[in-house]
Amino acid sequence: MTRVYNFSAGPAALPEPVLRQAAEEMLDWHGSGMSVMEMSHRGKEFIAIADEAQALLRELMAIPASYKVLFMQGGAIAENAIVPMNLLRGHAGADYVDTGEWSKKSIKEAKKYGKVNVAASSADSGYTTIPPRDTWKLDPDAAYVHICSNETIGGVEYHWTPEVGPAPLVADMSSSILSRPVDVSKYGLIYGGAQKNIGPAGLTIVIVREDLIGQALPATPSAFDYKTVADNDSMYNTPPTYGIYIAGLVFKWLQAQGGLAAMETKNRAKAALLYDYLDTTGFYSAPVAKDCRSLMNVPFKLKDEALDSAFLKGAEARGMVQLKGHRSVGGMRASIYNAMPVAGVQALVAYMKEFEAKNG
Ligand SMILES: *Cc1c(COP(=O)(O)O)cnc(C)c1O
Repeated sequence: MTRVYNFSAGPAALPEPVLRQAAEEMLDWHGSGMSVMEMSHRGKEFIAIADEAQALLRELMAIPASYKVLFMQGGAIAENAIVPMNLLRGHAGADYVDTGEWSKKSIKEAKKYGKVNVAASSADSGYTTIPPRDTWKLDPDAAYVHICSNETIGGVEYHWTPEVGPAPLVADMSSSILSRPVDVSKYGLIYGGAQKNIGPAGLTIVIVREDLIGQALPATPSAFDYKTVADNDSMYNTPPTYGIYIAGLVFKWLQAQGGLAAMETKNRAKAALLYDYLDTTGFYSAPVAKDCRSLMNVPFKLKDEALDSAFLKGAEARGMVQLKGHRSVGGMRASIYNAMPVAGVQALVAYMKEFEAKNG
């Protein structure tokens, strides 16, 4: 068996020890005689698995007791609708900050439910920056202020938490959740699909302040009403049980790595390996402004895009896959989530140097 270095933006690589444990437990979880996939979500075994996953996530992120942790389905794209349905709470609309492809999607969807005020946009920079806070034009009656903490496609990330006044701050953290510590108390709601930095696709994590729950628009589907989901401990409908189990194993793995502060140190070191090299060569370039470069998704370009396919082919031959950039930005993108070992990034940089020496 050979495992590749998988630089996919999502679904993405998972820690190998987690996959091994899941394989070992596949046919018989802890003497239950069945796979987690085959368990009733209301049975004592699965309830223990879900409770432990939630407890571990609460501990890792230091989630205050006044927040609910919800295990939902539909991904971040469904949350783009579920958030306004639940959080408008009688307000006419909400503020959105536009920093790239994913914020644009959130904005488009929210417009179906209310008025969207685009409080700031980095479109003018080609989405290579984050608009400074003092340029944001917030609506004093906004129900909430929405940001995308890390633009997975463009590779721009907030390295600060915006202060937005009384309106709750809502963040799509799909691709940066668990990459470093965040102060949850600064947010009204955090959401993200699991398939970037947590586990298999199909599980959506929602962390929401309790006082924001319970005023959903009347037409909100019950399975998407945070109150229904919270009141039923995420078991109003059948939750993505296997995804929750794998997420729990990943949370345990993160704890064994030393928690999120330790992950931040590792993630900074991995990102620095790549960015430092990109900044010393004219053969490759990194488009994103230095103060908002993503630790998780590193887009870069070759000086001559005619070499792109040769670059990708050579990478694949060396066991490094999924480096092609998103079609909207072109070039390359290396996604280096928690599960990507330093050795994977070292191998990539070594290959980039070799390719430059041969073609530069
Ligand atoms: C991947 C991603 C999404 C889309 O998630 P789905 O699970 O496909 O709905 C939304 N926002 C961000 C920031 C993402 O990285």
